[in-house]
Amino acid sequence: SEEIEHHTFDVVVIGAGGAGLRAAIEARLQGKRTAIITKSLFGKAHTVMAEGGCAAAMGNVNPNDNWKVHFADTMRGGKFLNNWRMAELHAKEAPDRVWELETYGALFDRTPDGKISQRNFGGHTYPRLAHVGDRTGLELIRTLQQKIVSLQQEDHAATGDYESYIKVFHETTITELFKTDGRISGCFGYFRPTGKFVRFDAPAIVLATGGVGKSYSVTSNSWEYTGDGHALALRAGATLINMEFLQFHPTGMVWPPSVKGILVTESVRGDGGVLRNSEGKRFMFDYIADVFKNLYATTEEEADRWYTDPDNNKRPPELLPRDEVARAINAEVKAGRGSPHGGVYLDVSTRLSPEQILKRLPSMYHQFKELADVDITKEPMEVGPTCHYVMGGIEVDPDTGMSVVPGLFAAGECSGGMHGSNRLGGNSLSDLLVFGRRCGLGAAQYVDGLDARPQVQEADVVTATERALLPFTTAAEGGENPFVVHQELQKTMHELVGIIRKADEMELALKKLEDIAVRARTVSVTGGRAFNPNWHLALDLRNMLLVSMCVAKAALERKESRGGHTRDDYPVMDPEWRKVLLVCSAEGEDNVRLERKEQVPMRPDLLDLFEMDELKKYFTGEELGGHRATAQ
Ligand code: FAD
Repeated sequence: SEEIEHHTFDVVVIGAGGAGLRAAIEARLQGKRTAIITKSLFGKAHTVMAEGGCAAAMGNVNPNDNWKVHFADTMRGGKFLNNWRMAELHAKEAPDRVWELETYGALFDRTPDGKISQRNFGGHTYPRLAHVGDRTGLELIRTLQQKIVSLQQEDHAATGDYESYIKVFHETTITELFKTDGRISGCFGYFRPTGKFVRFDAPAIVLATGGVGKSYSVTSNSWEYTGDGHALALRAGATLINMEFLQFHPTGMVWPPSVKGILVTESVRGDGGVLRNSEGKRFMFDYIADVFKNLYATTEEEADRWYTDPDNNKRPPELLPRDEVARAINAEVKAGRGSPHGGVYLDVSTRLSPEQILKRLPSMYHQFKELADVDITKEPMEVGPTCHYVMGGIEVDPDTGMSVVPGLFAAGECSGGMHGSNRLGGNSLSDLLVFGRRCGLGAAQYVDGLDARPQVQEADVVTATERALLPFTTAAEGGENPFVVHQELQKTMHELVGIIRKADEMELALKKLEDIAVRARTVSVTGGRAFNPNWHLALDLRNMLLVSMCVAKAALERKESRGGHTRDDYPVMDPEWRKVLLVCSAEGEDNVRLERKEQVPMRPDLLDLFEMDELKKYFTGEELGGHRATAQ
């Protein structure tokens, strides 16, 4: 049998996006020998694609902003299903994390008086997104990498070895986590270029693997987003929550077909872009849900005034939370008022000068010019919903990021709870920084508290190797091509567990997923192990399937509509369901068990941040009965 490369670390971070890098920096600052593992090239995590900005209540553009308003907006955006402790920590700590990035060398766009500028985004009461044009994620990743290099230089000065404390393994995919006596002991994977196996022994692992979008056929996500962290956690005995909640971003490109799903940043609307149907009507005024009445403008005149006088006017309904806008677009297209390619029109050309568009939205200008031959300074864009973000993820302790498995931590998009049923734009980049740091700290403290390190069982390494090689051994039996099975999976999820859901369709989806599971188990690949995309997909497929089962099962179970979960057969939000979390755990290779769990009641001082009239729209009378505000 082949020799397996073997490394030992204190903390292994899987994922080199914002969450992974911030966690690794923290673990290193706590004196831990840390590995950073990424399936793509270093610097090419999903975070780099983030456009709009990073939400933090710094109050630079509107001094009325503070963490309490940010907290309230986040809870409202998530329809009060959020883990309130996470939302509290996030709102309180985000400004410090943004400042800290500038100490690492980031340079955000400025206000005329030299402060970090902040832009408007859906669901945020005040301008709150720190940004660098529409390339904020690039600056975030660049800066975090720069910080890592500077730490490595310090380590070189002290030890003579740049990699004595932080070592990066890129193009390395982790396929298995190891546990010994119920605790994390290490992980296993392969180097993509060579196909050779590698094993990491470590008592603490931080999952920061991002999202699951590649289970859908129309998505803004790139190839890495196959839900690996979600699936690795499940198989290691951890739990996932909120998996029924997927964010369909309202504005993805719809034309040409080769680019369908690619994101059109919400900044287009934040900076003045409006949505119109084929009749030229600004239709969002017809879609302001009851819970948002009084918070949004009801006439075009008021909406237009808001851009220059936000304190005395209400914001335009184009800036409602994403789930609301995506459903509205879906309804317009269904009613026959869509654009020629099945979307609606998004227009900045009549609202901003070409100079302003080129300055504020340079990437969007190039994206449409090059990919669709549309000049957004002159013409409207055609846009429609695209699968963008998974609110659901690994259930963690809010303060430390640890899952129910000792030694297994999670941060960023692969963790769950923070965003409830719907994430506000800009709240992900801040989430990565706040909880990436907390996870690195949590992992370091956990390692310090151990008496002895759990040892990896050699038998587990053998099993992991056999599991990874399975697609080659089934080749002789003539299994299917993984690409065919993947497409079937994407189609099933897109058509049957998509933006609008029905019981019979989801039941059909679950049947299909069972059938796909059988086929996925026997997919076969030929050729060698070096850079073999069929093999890589065969292994990723196993993860996408498990995660899709969680989404479909949880979506069938939740009999109400809330945030990123819309049921045609249960169209209203039900306060009884707000109290319920659906918790997924794995049973065997690809079976999912679903359990209900009561939410922890919100702390009274946080409840007090809301008007009772608003709370009544979300909470049951019983829940509010004991709250002192009702007595007044
Ligand atoms: P990522 O940045 O995706 O990193 C995941 C890492 O895990 C990668 O390094 C990947 O290679 C690695 N990985 C995955 N699986 C494995 C494995 N099995 N083994 C080893 N490594 C693995 N949010 C905002 O707040 N503001 C925005 O403006 C914004 N714009 C966006 C624009 C686009 C086009 C998209 C797609 C998303 C946007 N988001 C935005 C959302 C936000 O970018 C993501 O939610 C966030 O970047 C996720 O960060 P992360 O650190 O959790 O994961």
